Amino acid sequence: MSDFDTIVIGSGFGGAVMACRLAQKGARVLVLERGRRWAVKDYPSVSQRNWLWDESEPEQQNGWLDFRYFGDMSVALGAGVGGGSLIYANVSIDAKPEVFNGGWPEAIRYAALQPHYQTVAKMMVVQPLPDNQLTARTRLMREAAEKIGAGERFKLVPQAVAFNPDWHYGLDNPHDLSQSRPWVNDQGVTQGTCIHCGNCDIGCPTQAKNTLDLNYLALAEQLGAEVRALHQVRCITPDGCGYSLQVRDLDKGRDVTLRAERVVVSAGSVGSTELLLRCRDQHKTLPKLSRYLGRGWTSNGDFLTAAWYDERELSPTRGPTISSAIDFLDGSEAGARFFVEDGGFPDLLGNLLEKGGRHYRLRNTRLARALMAGAQRTDPARRMMPWFGQAADEPGGRFHLGRRWLMPWRKDKLKLSWDYRKAELAVQGLADMHLKLTRATGGEAITPATWKWFRNLVTPHPLGGCNMADDARSGVVDDRGEVFGYPNLFVMDGAVVPTSLGLNPSKTIAALAEHAAERIA
Ligand SMILES: Cc1cc2nc3c(=O)[nH]c(=O)nc-3n(C[C@H](O)[C@H](O)[C@H](O)COP(=O)(O)OP(=O)(O)OC[C@H]3O[C@@H](n4cnc5c(N)ncnc54)[C@H](O)[C@@H]3O)c2cc1C
Ligand code: SF4
Repeated sequence: MSDFDTIVIGSGFGGAVMACRLAQKGARVLVLERGRRWAVKDYPSVSQRNWLWDESEPEQQNGWLDFRYFGDMSVALGAGVGGGSLIYANVSIDAKPEVFNGGWPEAIRYAALQPHYQTVAKMMVVQPLPDNQLTARTRLMREAAEKIGAGERFKLVPQAVAFNPDWHYGLDNPHDLSQSRPWVNDQGVTQGTCIHCGNCDIGCPTQAKNTLDLNYLALAEQLGAEVRALHQVRCITPDGCGYSLQVRDLDKGRDVTLRAERVVVSAGSVGSTELLLRCRDQHKTLPKLSRYLGRGWTSNGDFLTAAWYDERELSPTRGPTISSAIDFLDGSEAGARFFVEDGGFPDLLGNLLEKGGRHYRLRNTRLARALMAGAQRTDPARRMMPWFGQAADEPGGRFHLGRRWLMPWRKDKLKLSWDYRKAELAVQGLADMHLKLTRATGGEAITPATWKWFRNLVTPHPLGGCNMADDARSGVVDDRGEVFGYPNLFVMDGAVVPTSLGLNPSKTIAALAEHAAERIA
């Protein structure tokens, strides 16, 4: 007898949807998540070490940002109950229908996914920024698009954020927590509305941002699913008609073994690919995994250019991190397909001052008032525009286990071989467009040297590694995420996405999981 019908490894967009829908079908579901469960009061403090994840010492360092360096490519990942939703910039958008016309299994076309996109939009309460709440960056985006004759390509992006239509920048203290209004979501969880504080990537203080712990995972738990935080799965082994998992309990510092008839690996593009590579090549417990494992990986062409303006206040530390896009995914720019977005980032100094001002020992003192006033004034990059975006690059990456420099006899280090040439046309098109939009609006920008000279990129949108396909010769899993050669072992997360999307991927990952869960008995 197995401990559970289904064990889901990871609680991001793939894992949360699978846990919720399989629990709804009556399965006894356990979710194992390597990161912590976060409450607003515990959100990572930038003044402490607790917001970074360190894969080499996860028992000591288990914050929610896992930053991996692979030479020419670095990858930012979320860790925690809710996965990447804890850290993401809220954009929840359908992929273009044309994306599914090549490189995907026959069963995965836009028409097949469309009802699932709608379900995800409802669960994640997706909506655009209200017209009375446009940020300075949104207005610059629209003006820039118009000035280069691309006004019709500008649009507000759908966001998984609850906005209060009565909120606006003209309020007294608009970013104060008291300006947020409580509401109750369909899963019965009380949330707030957005106050444009700009903290989306370091934790929404009002819970206006619809993270997975507030909806899909909340519903899964109401249906009886169990979520165990700080549990990292290290190995999967076939066991009778199911699988047993070797799991490290990071909190108690001990190993446990758990068994289930069905296992869903949802550890993300990097996590799922690494776990399966280790099972095939290091532990040798899943030797029949496809030779395609690790291949066909893409960075989704993410690129950022900082531009500076003498005359404009843009305040990228205010407002939801991303609000709008200028859509060039039709390839009209010499074949390069890309999606320009405005970027934002939290005001770390302001947050530190505010935290100091709210400290229980200082509350109601003159120093607290001074710190709070300072927090309101800080806006270190107010004339800066972070032009952001994604580009539809060719999947040019391959993960594999390679040798260590200092211990070359050990072949257990996760490595990424990335062929920048597969990304060059699309990413360069996006980078050039950033400069064009800057010039058209009177700013100054240069392409970052990391790309211009070294062809290095950083991505928060890793995709692929356990690619979906019609057979094991061209992929690792089928259109429901079931692993070729291993019945009842599934992968469902960004790792199964076989092509670049050229825009933010979380909604597509969730829709693929909805599609798969519907087809699993
Ligand atoms: C700063 C930032 C901003 C972003 N903004 C956006 C955005 O606006 N819109 C958008 O669409 N996308 C955005 N993304 C990308 C988005 O977060 C990811 O595409 C998405 O989270 C991927 O979903 P997933 O299910 O593949 O994996 P994840 O959400 O990464 O979930 C995987 C989970 O598995 C856990 N895990 C990994 N290994 C193990 C293991 N061995 N055992 C147990 N648990 C494990 C991880 O801790 C994690 O919680 C952003 C990402 C970052 C970093
Ligand atoms: S801007 Fe602030 S309140 Fe709005 S979603 Fe982001 S973190 Fe939450």
